Amino acid sequence: MLLLPACAVAQEVKPEATEDWLRKPPLVTPAGPNRAPSDAIVLFAGAKDLDKWEHPDGSAVKWEVKGNVLTIVPKTKDIRTKQSFGSMQLHIEWKTPDPEENHGRNNMGNSGVLFMGLYELQIYESYDYRERIYYNGQAGSIYKQYAPLANASLPPQTWQTFDVVFEAPVFNADSTLKTPARITVFQNGILIQNHVAIKGPMVYAGYPKYVYHPARLPLVLQEHGSKVSFRNIWVREL
Ligand code: MG
Repeated sequence: MLLLPACAVAQEVKPEATEDWLRKPPLVTPAGPNRAPSDAIVLFAGAKDLDKWEHPDGSAVKWEVKGNVLTIVPKTKDIRTKQSFGSMQLHIEWKTPDPEENHGRNNMGNSGVLFMGLYELQIYESYDYRERIYYNGQAGSIYKQYAPLANASLPPQTWQTFDVVFEAPVFNADSTLKTPARITVFQNGILIQNHVAIKGPMVYAGYPKYVYHPARLPLVLQEHGSKVSFRNIWVREL
């Protein structure tokens, strides 16, 4: 029997056979680096967006707004979006405060983005004080699960960016986990989390474990006693 080389077999497939003319990508108009593209949901660009957020008890946001900057007021609790989300692309800009102003371990620019209110991408002062916390607790960690692939942090009081692809977990009909959440993160343009499988909701003491929850939940920003600021927050639902 004559065996044809692989290249000869490939030539029998017409070029048209592998051309996709059915699944047309939707038009999205980019708006430049860091700026919300045409199909984004803007979550915070200034005071007018404050009504898109609330504290967990449903009360109006007590964090401070100056111009296009939202700053945590310590002891006022986390805030969450009124809208619920599943998988998303997120852009968020943040800066940690002057470390001299707030010098406790728990206050070192500690905040975080909690996807679905459960899965924490850590915000922390990790430039001048990078050895003050375990590596899977520094900026860009999936808190207590994955250290970032690199420390891409900038100095305190400097605006930094997270660009994130978050894939929500999927549960079976019997509430058991089908597929875990996954996350990819760029900090200041540098890949720091590469499609890692999140092990479960953030826990401070103990080991994470998935518990069934709805397919869409609010996005949460953490208040941890530190005056971390935010600006230019937008998402694209996936
Ligand atoms: Mg945190």
